Amino acid sequence: MGGAIGAERAGLPASGGVAAVIEALSEPFGARLSTGRALREQHANTITWLANEPPDAVVFVEDTAEVQQVVRACAAHGVPVIAFGTGTSLEGQVNAPKGGICIDLSRMNRVLAVHAEDLDCVVEPGVTRKQLNEHLRDLGLFFPIDPGADASLGGMASTRASGTNAVRYGTMKDNVVALTAVLANGEVITTARRAKKSSAGYDLTRLFVGAEGTLGIITSLTLRLSGLPEAISGGVCPFPTIRSACDAVIMTIQSGLPVARIELLDEVQVRACNAYSKLDLPEQPLLFLEFHGTEAGVHEQAERFGEIAAEFGGGPFTWTARPEERTRLWQARHDAYWACLPLKPGAKALATDVCVPLSRLADCVDETKRDIEEMGMLAPIVGHVGDGNFHTVTLVDMDDPQDVAKAKIFIERMVHRSLAMGGTATGEHGVGQGKKKYLEAEHGRETLDAMRAIKAALDPQNIMNPGKILP
Ligand SMILES: Cc1cc2nc3c(=O)[nH]c(=O)nc-3n(C[C@H](O)[C@H](O)[C@H](O)COP(=O)(O)OP(=O)(O)OC[C@H]3O[C@@H](n4cnc5c(N)ncnc54)[C@H](O)[C@@H]3O)c2cc1C
Repeated sequence: MGGAIGAERAGLPASGGVAAVIEALSEPFGARLSTGRALREQHANTITWLANEPPDAVVFVEDTAEVQQVVRACAAHGVPVIAFGTGTSLEGQVNAPKGGICIDLSRMNRVLAVHAEDLDCVVEPGVTRKQLNEHLRDLGLFFPIDPGADASLGGMASTRASGTNAVRYGTMKDNVVALTAVLANGEVITTARRAKKSSAGYDLTRLFVGAEGTLGIITSLTLRLSGLPEAISGGVCPFPTIRSACDAVIMTIQSGLPVARIELLDEVQVRACNAYSKLDLPEQPLLFLEFHGTEAGVHEQAERFGEIAAEFGGGPFTWTARPEERTRLWQARHDAYWACLPLKPGAKALATDVCVPLSRLADCVDETKRDIEEMGMLAPIVGHVGDGNFHTVTLVDMDDPQDVAKAKIFIERMVHRSLAMGGTATGEHGVGQGKKKYLEAEHGRETLDAMRAIKAALDPQNIMNPGKILP
């Protein structure tokens, strides 16, 4: 833990099957294959408290045929293959606990086609969401899924990412129409056509979305696009308590108000954002909101939300349609994770998320907040609450075993609280290594066995990102 090198073999030269694979790939890939330690460490988990477990080599691929070449070489020797997008995942997804070859997909970053008339596009997996939106801007279209980080679309699909816009536009599950993937045996499959609907066979697209690279390597994605809204307005609304803020969220969603974003920050997170982003927001529980629609529509939505907030003691709801003010606010929201770090200098920040049915949101957030206070933790709460999804950023002194033990207990309790309320161990960050231990409690043994059977059928040697998702 603490970002130390986890695998003992981290500094040792590769041997056995791995050495054979590296030798086989050295000539065709040349300088695009590296065994340098710094690069390998950069390609393993870096962001949270899980140990850094580097692969034996990193290879930068440029097309599907090269992915096939690497996978076939690894399959021939039973060597693990770990896909890498931008490495922003939070649960140890890109670690290589058994060593192996990391396939870096960042050079597969071409937008292959935009079908504006069909509201879809085809991209390589290394295209990032900001890059895609730059590409689309002049067409009046955008790709709405926004996890904050400028993540790759292959990585976002693989973690079933969502973020601030999901309450209106859905998650990656709703916005990946089809994908092409290289399987563990080196074969290439395409999971669907571009039609908006299809009842033709098993839904392999959904199977790969959220598979975290454990079933194959995605080499292209067909994505659903949305039209840029004619008007956008946004603002901030303070509440006397975190429960009243959540109650207002529940009422907003239940009353069918089509909010594009509705984000909760507790007072600790607001304080952190004020200091980090040089804002002067009221230091109490806040909702950040955004509305998309026509000029008249966003005006009406904002007014209606103000009325709902007032019913729960919230307000005043101050909102604006001016882009520069909105951008400043949402940049602060996106920087929320980094804003937490100065609250406890030297601490690690553990971002963890759960998601409950909307009607249980206020209970789950309120109980979690009480737990934080009773346990004496520093753990700001921030969340995509319109989906019943929220995060805590637990600040942990990794040199203090008591602090680490307390954080573990806190996270376990948060997950079990969510499960007891009909929720999930993770709404959007995925399972990786960190949340594996909760899967049986969430799904039950029989369902896990069905997942294992799928994994065994598609990857009988268990070379695709081993040690992730399935306990
Ligand atoms: C500050 C911060 C805030 C965040 N906020 C959010 C948020 O609001 N919502 C949210 O959903 N996430 C959030 N995340 C998490 C992260 O951004 C997402 O998980 C993102 O989807 C990861 O994309 P990536 O390109 O970095 O993937 P990586 O981290 O590189 O990879 C993630 C997983 O996908 C696999 N993978 C990558 N590419 C492929 C491929 N082409 N084929 C098959 N498997 C592949 C990897 O093997 C790994 O298992 C946040 C992260 C940070 C650091």
